[in-house]
Amino acid sequence: MDNFFSDNPDILWHFEHLELDEIIANAEDDFAQASRFDDAPASAADAREGYRAVLDMLGAIAAQEIAPLAAEVDLEGAHFEHGKVSYARGTQRALDILSRTSLMGFTLPREYGGLNMPGVLYTMATEIVSQADASLMNLFGLQDIAETIREFASEEQKARYLPKFASGEVTGAMILTEPDAGSDLQAVRLKAVAQPDGAWKLYGVKRFITNGCGDVSLVLARTEDGSTDGRGLSMLLCEKCPELVVRRIEHKLGIHGSPTCELQFNGVPAELVGQRRMGLIRYVMSLMNGARVAIAAQSIGIAQAAYEEALKYARERAQFKKRIIEFPQVYDMLARMKSSLLAARAITYEASRLVDLRRVYEHRMAKAPGEDVRAGLKEISAFAGVLTPIAKAYASEMCNQVAYDAIQIHGGTGFMRDFNVERLARDARITSIYEGTTQLQVIGALPGVTSGTLGRFLDALAAGAIPAGLSELAALCGEARAHLARALTHLKTADDKTYLDYTARPLIDMASEALAAHLFLRQAVRDAGRALHAEKYIRDAMPRIRMRAEIVTSGDRLTIEKHAELM
Ligand SMILES: Cc1cc2nc3c(=O)[nH]c(=O)nc-3n(C[C@H](O)[C@H](O)[C@H](O)COP(=O)(O)OP(=O)(O)OC[C@H]3O[C@@H](n4cnc5c(N)ncnc54)[C@H](O)[C@@H]3O)c2cc1C
Repeated sequence: MDNFFSDNPDILWHFEHLELDEIIANAEDDFAQASRFDDAPASAADAREGYRAVLDMLGAIAAQEIAPLAAEVDLEGAHFEHGKVSYARGTQRALDILSRTSLMGFTLPREYGGLNMPGVLYTMATEIVSQADASLMNLFGLQDIAETIREFASEEQKARYLPKFASGEVTGAMILTEPDAGSDLQAVRLKAVAQPDGAWKLYGVKRFITNGCGDVSLVLARTEDGSTDGRGLSMLLCEKCPELVVRRIEHKLGIHGSPTCELQFNGVPAELVGQRRMGLIRYVMSLMNGARVAIAAQSIGIAQAAYEEALKYARERAQFKKRIIEFPQVYDMLARMKSSLLAARAITYEASRLVDLRRVYEHRMAKAPGEDVRAGLKEISAFAGVLTPIAKAYASEMCNQVAYDAIQIHGGTGFMRDFNVERLARDARITSIYEGTTQLQVIGALPGVTSGTLGRFLDALAAGAIPAGLSELAALCGEARAHLARALTHLKTADDKTYLDYTARPLIDMASEALAAHLFLRQAVRDAGRALHAEKYIRDAMPRIRMRAEIVTSGDRLTIEKHAELM
């Protein structure tokens, strides 16, 4: 591929079919920005052409300039010497290119030097960068920090920092995790002490912080003395300074280009972002939700790269006097890899589009609140709230499976460092761990599935006329909805919290596959050219959906009751 955007038919299909008009009009203040900024579009069509040009440029840079550096970056890794972190040479070069081409402020408003693009296009961009070098995405993806400042910081803070993020002059870090507070961020202990002048100082230790050496960081810290849960946590902003010490960087399995730091805060000067006590409950949840969509996109990028490598190898490699791609077990693996990759992309772009749509409703609420706008905002927020963890869980697990299969298709060669799939499988492994493990995404998706929110979303996707040729697939989607409803009825009737937690994974896996099936069906309804991929996915998914429904409705409590003896 010479261009990771324009040479990828699936991304292009989504780009051309995304329902963006409302989102564009909202971002462009109904195109009033055109009178203030030379580069602002005058219409939705104009905006789309601009987005296409940006993604096309990024796609070319990613394929031709960043991807060739990835193996070298993996070998060299980030450096830590005399307390200072520096990037691998290839990482620095790639960052310089992205800054020079103004690609570090995708979603930031124009007044701060950003491109003012909808989040879903940033999601595409994240995927494109990740396909080239997954570890670079961890730095490119720090735009989420700027986005959080844009959403919650004061006007003065925004003016101070956002132009620097947009130009690439500064990089950031999202500093949440501590040795005893990983999945459970309510346990965060890092202490923020109020100073007489209204400023704050931070004391404590954080670990596993991507780019903890960054210039501007958002830190989750305990501002309320004596508190022990999330309500005592606030979000603070600090800059790189002598009191903020990088103790070490981690030696990791993958994403070697991305420095992962352990940090010691020795009275680091900091300032509050937004309101006290809202750090975890509001701001970090928002930051992490953005980052979860970004990790879903990173997963898709890695999987795309692994799939391309596997396809190429299977076409070239011969055994038993045949190309291995001609063996049914091999082409079946490749077809499944591609199908699950397309499913993850469909779910992730939909989740990202819903987050954009939520912003449209938030603006409407601010401008002209009304009962229908309020109801719309509530519904869209609920949809975004359930699709986001599903996207992260589905895409990251898919990515690991695709990378695993890509090595399998390479045989022994895939186990060797000389081949890209070895690096891709190592890079893939982190995606289902950071920004909340798959288990935590399952917990995050559970309320939206058990409350019936996802069911309503599926009903909406299934509504409308179905062309005759798709009636069988539509019937299978109907069957998937019925299995989901049956599972939920069983869980409600059982009213057993432990059983619900125990069956949460098969329930969410079933819900995720039902969602993907419906998104494929909708694609096929809109474009007959998508029908084959829809058929492949839905036919493959149905037996798994039936099996998971059986697990959830079995009422089998053996492992719950005997787990101590079974382990
Ligand atoms: C390379 C890398 C980069 C990172 N970057 C950042 C960063 O930039 N900023 C930041 O703040 N953090 C970062 N992290 C931290 C990351 O988000 C955490 O590692 C992750 O959230 C998991 O926390 P933990 O490692 O403490 O695992 P634990 O929370 O100890 O989890 C261990 C296991 O228990 C399971 N588990 C825990 N609770 C439950 C539950 N209630 N139900 C079911 N299972 C459960 C988990 O799924 C997991 O399998 C990074 C981590 C890595 C490895």
